[in-house]
Amino acid sequence: MLSIKDVSKKYVTGDLVQNALDGVSLNLRDSEFVAVLGPSGSGKTTLLNVLGGLDRYDSGDLIINGVSTKQYKDRDWDSYRNHAVGFVFQNYNLIPHQSVLANVELALTISGISKSERRSRAVKALEEVGLADQLHKKPNQMSGGQMQRVAIARALVNDPEILLADEPTGALDTETGIQVMELLKNVSKDRLVVMVTHNPELASTYATRIVSLKDGKIEGDTNPFEIQDEKFEKLETKNLGKSSMSLFTALSLSFNNLKTKKGRTFLTAFAGSIGIIGIALILSLSTGVNTYISDIQKSTMTSYPITVDAQTLDLTNVVKNTDMYAISEEMKHGTGAVFSNPASFHMASGFTTSFTKNNLTKFKQYLDDPTSEIHEFVGENGIVYSYKPKYKIYTVDKNGEILNTDGSTLNPMANPMSSFMGESAEMMTANFSNFSELLKGKNEVISNAVTDTYDVLDGRWPEKFDESVLVLNRNYEVDANILYQLGFLPAEEYRSVMEQISKGEEITLEVQQFSYEEILKKEFTIIPECDTFIKKSNGTFEKIDENSPEFKSLFDNALKLKIVGIVIPSEDADAHYINSNVAYTSLLTEHLIDYVENSAVVAAQKSSPDVNVLSGIAFSPATDEMKISDAKQYFSSLGISEKAKLLTQFSVSQGADTTTLPPDEVMRAGMFDSYLATAPDSMMLSLYDTFISNGSYEENLTGFGVVSRTAPASVSIYADNFENKDKISECIENYNKSVSEEDEIAYTDYVGLLMSSVTTIIDVISYVLMAFVSVSLIVSSIMIGIITYISVLERTKEIGILRAIGASRQNIAQVFNAETFIIGLISGVLGIVVTKLLNIPINALIHMLTGIDSVNAQLPYDSALVLVILAVVLTLIGGIIPSRKAAKKDPVTSLRSE
Ligand code: ADP
Ligand code: MG
Repeated sequence: MLSIKDVSKKYVTGDLVQNALDGVSLNLRDSEFVAVLGPSGSGKTTLLNVLGGLDRYDSGDLIINGVSTKQYKDRDWDSYRNHAVGFVFQNYNLIPHQSVLANVELALTISGISKSERRSRAVKALEEVGLADQLHKKPNQMSGGQMQRVAIARALVNDPEILLADEPTGALDTETGIQVMELLKNVSKDRLVVMVTHNPELASTYATRIVSLKDGKIEGDTNPFEIQDEKFEKLETKNLGKSSMSLFTALSLSFNNLKTKKGRTFLTAFAGSIGIIGIALILSLSTGVNTYISDIQKSTMTSYPITVDAQTLDLTNVVKNTDMYAISEEMKHGTGAVFSNPASFHMASGFTTSFTKNNLTKFKQYLDDPTSEIHEFVGENGIVYSYKPKYKIYTVDKNGEILNTDGSTLNPMANPMSSFMGESAEMMTANFSNFSELLKGKNEVISNAVTDTYDVLDGRWPEKFDESVLVLNRNYEVDANILYQLGFLPAEEYRSVMEQISKGEEITLEVQQFSYEEILKKEFTIIPECDTFIKKSNGTFEKIDENSPEFKSLFDNALKLKIVGIVIPSEDADAHYINSNVAYTSLLTEHLIDYVENSAVVAAQKSSPDVNVLSGIAFSPATDEMKISDAKQYFSSLGISEKAKLLTQFSVSQGADTTTLPPDEVMRAGMFDSYLATAPDSMMLSLYDTFISNGSYEENLTGFGVVSRTAPASVSIYADNFENKDKISECIENYNKSVSEEDEIAYTDYVGLLMSSVTTIIDVISYVLMAFVSVSLIVSSIMIGIITYISVLERTKEIGILRAIGASRQNIAQVFNAETFIIGLISGVLGIVVTKLLNIPINALIHMLTGIDSVNAQLPYDSALVLVILAVVLTLIGGIIPSRKAAKKDPVTSLRSE
């Protein structure tokens, strides 16, 4: 039983106070068909809404089954509407994007009824209104009468005690109107039906009772119902059943809604995903590059050592100091005087200061000391020493001419800079030699650092001591000058070209070509320094040169060095580990070191350590008598021209007039001999001191090319990763602090320098880019907020309907949060998918531009997941305000909206 007591409801709009209900009291039977009649604006709808719990009364009371609703909470009202009341509206108020069946099921969904029961009850309700065959239509595919019958089915599906219909036939033609009235009459058999109409005819035909309203007051009642017992029960917690909406319902409602606006949903999601795509792309790129770098660090970098050479040339310094035309501010002069320009001296100084000598003997002592801190950081490949034995390498050109490959045969006046630079010139020649040793690995003949950074064009890497490779530049070339020096091109041709140049004639040099076969046939001849010392008949050794008659047989019997491969720097290699045109392995060096040890001259010198095997006299005679006899022996062993030269020098030293000496060599030699024959011992002693400098045992051995294991030509220190590499650098710095200035070690770890700064740069760039992209994320969340808000406005009616069938405020908020959740999810997933797709062309581009195939932009899975969550969270935040607004909407206002 439902009754209202003295209920008033006012609407205040500005100054106007509208009494929609003015002290209305009405008792309704549990089962009757009440028609509410009255002119427009008389408060009929308001009365119905108050009865149905959709609208609140200002004063008075609504008594449901004897219970006052004064203490009702939102939850109680929601439950009342959902379980006890069914609404039918003039304009049907079906949810357009849901099917007929879903519209009817909705009320049950909110009641939390299981899916199968929901389905069967909805079908049954639709059967009852005669729409069993229209279940899957959308409302807009039906006629008005059909839609109203769907609305009635929806109102009845929960089997409510009360059915409230607000002008249900208002929009229908008479015939369908009658059908609907029949239906309602039928329904009113076992429940209360209150129907608003302004059609008195219909009312009198079908209703069992007619209540007339005017200006918010009841004017007439054809069948009043008086309640004798005026006592109300106290509000007891009479649970009408729970009114709730599952998350799934919220999601499916929103999903169906979004399906009806696919284009807009996609655009919204896409706009939202742009920020995600930005961040994901940056993450992919930085992940790709960082993975690449750490890969290099882990695998390849373990074979890239810090290399310290006994002699190094700092090319950057040379370039800096040789730029003669760079005029700095303080060097600028004005007119009024003539100034000197020191550039040429600076240039020369640039060359000399760019050469650094490292005391590797001392450094090796430090490295050999097992307590040195550096050992903690040395990698698997350890420390590798290399040595430089003395040798000359010759070649034969196609005309059979023998050439020293250092270019001295071709151009005896070589090294025009030597007058300027003295010792540095020598070092420079050593640095720019046409031959060098390939960096050796700990267990490999050739370090991976070399084999990884060069490609073999033909042949193979050397494996034996007498094998070498020819090194081309990136354009598959070798400098023509060097080809002449190496004997690939004929010396004769070189000389004629040089002659042309010196005559000032124009030269035409054709580009020459060699087949790989031709190159791989080439052999060089290595003559170790020790072999150029040949034993004379008197037992002493004499150094011979290329012009000596003995040279040919020496050449013919010497070691041959074969070219077994042609290599070229790899496309993607930054470091170049070979700095000559022909490179051999450390095996050759080892071979030569042993060879020198066993050579005749070294053996002879070692067996008589006190006597110089070159002169046959003692290094440092103990007594004056020995000096005198050594002097006699030495002078007697000299040849004619040597004696003649010595006489002239002696005369000069004595202050004599050399013009009086005879011009003939033989005569002068004779004079020298006769002078010596009578010379007193004191004179012999002074002659010894002046003209015989006999060197030392060590000097001789070095001269023969004996290599000291304590003095390496270069040291390579391997680390397994960057941190250890940096630590090794620190150790070397500490070492430098502990030794005197001239023993300090200078080196540059170019690779380490480059790679570690690259990692930092990439991190910094990533962060900066991400900061920018975050702004776009914020912008996209705001946009999603706006779009959700628009959606709220659009779905106002739906909010009203949902509230009318029992949805709570939270349910409404849930529906809109579900919508933003779906949009957020789509934009997140879309962002990830687009990023994954974009990474394909981006990687192709990276590979094309950098030539490095191992850099792969890719999004890590955990980052992808985090980004999707981020997208969802941000869109949810963007949607919070609009969804709250939706929840707060007054259901009556919502329903009135169009
Ligand atoms: P009926 O259904 O009989 O045509 P209503 O119950 O809809 O009348 O309205 C009764 C009165 O209350 C009318 O004068 C109407 O203008 C006024 N009214 C209804 N709803 C509102 C509202 N939300 N704000 C202001 N006035 C309202
Ligand atoms: Mg009305």
